[in-house]
Amino acid sequence: MGDIAGKRVLVREDLNVPMADGKVTDDTRLRATLATVTELADKGAIVLVLAHFGRPKGPSAEFSLAQIVPAYQAVIGRPVGYVDWEGDKDSVAGLKPGDIAVLENTRFFSGEEKNEPAVVERFAALGDLYVNDAFSAAHRAHASTEGLAHRLPSFAGRAMEAELDALDKALGSPEHPVAAVVGGAKVSTKLDVLKQMVAKVDHLIIGGGMANTFLAARGVDVGKSLCEHDLTGTAEEILDAAEKADCIVHLPYDVVVAKEFAANPPTRTVNVHEVAADEMILDVGPAATEALGDVLKTCRTLVWNGPMGAFEIAPFDTATVALARTAAALTREGSLVSVAGGGDTVAALNHAGVAADFTFVSTAGGAFLEWMEGKELPGVKALES
Ligand code: ADP
Ligand code: MG
Repeated sequence: MGDIAGKRVLVREDLNVPMADGKVTDDTRLRATLATVTELADKGAIVLVLAHFGRPKGPSAEFSLAQIVPAYQAVIGRPVGYVDWEGDKDSVAGLKPGDIAVLENTRFFSGEEKNEPAVVERFAALGDLYVNDAFSAAHRAHASTEGLAHRLPSFAGRAMEAELDALDKALGSPEHPVAAVVGGAKVSTKLDVLKQMVAKVDHLIIGGGMANTFLAARGVDVGKSLCEHDLTGTAEEILDAAEKADCIVHLPYDVVVAKEFAANPPTRTVNVHEVAADEMILDVGPAATEALGDVLKTCRTLVWNGPMGAFEIAPFDTATVALARTAAALTREGSLVSVAGGGDTVAALNHAGVAADFTFVSTAGGAFLEWMEGKELPGVKALES
């Protein structure tokens, strides 16, 4: 990047942190920005952090990034300024080399998500250089994630670099057999991933709410379970494609069911064909979980997105925790390269106490999924061109 002393650098970060009662409840994403932001400041740049926060419909205090500044300052360990979209040019002109400031929510401009040239210009006018450090937002072609890269000299930040590096190392040319675990609740958003996965992996392990749609496609009565009945046709196509590609699909054959979604309700562990009409499948059963652990033992690479059950509520975290611990142990022994991603997946691995044992854990949700699909991420592509 050359000498950046005195240059104004627009750094796209992911500051979209969870908050409760006006306080940041998890500062993981803030910490992820530390390397890039402090390195630029130490080199004498004027660091302008660009980020979105939530899904505002125009400017509002509720979605103002001013709220996160105190927590951000604590993470960075030095003063952090805040620049409102009113009078921003003057505010930025008042900053000195080495200063760090957070610009207000990029989504206060309706043209941000539409990648409107006027908004790109609005941002570009504040900086001399652009650094994209937000892998988790790179699947979106927005003004601050994509448009700016075409307008200013642009670079990947340290966190972005590390993420792309780790993903490439793990799956650029993975060692086979490869297993993919896909679970969670968002079936419709994950079907494209499954379609791509069957051609690339040797074992496709389907759990969580996802599995119910596939079980229904195979004629299983899933009772009151979370299930997208209108997608059973697509599920069948995926099962057919898997068979043609020699990809073994693993669906649970025993499951844990309950009549209500509450902590420690009465449960039954049953064969998938024994689910009653008023019951919900909330976790993979112990026999299937053990068999899945045995599958992982034969594999060299694992990609994981989506928990195996409703892990937030005991005892429906059992299968997720057991499988995560098996994967962690195999990774520690050096027999498995394990990569996991997705908001709830990371929470589940933390809950199991094994996130640090995985080869790489990505906090990105949508971007991780699109990367799993093998799609080119617009925010990354724009940096390359
Ligand atoms: P990620 O954020 O890692 O991509 P998802 O958002 O797709 O994962 O899915 C996570 C959610 O799926 C969790 O809230 C979990 O409770 C839910 N879930 C998993 N299995 C089931 C199930 N059998 N029934 C209902 N919800 C489930
Ligand atoms: Mg989620």
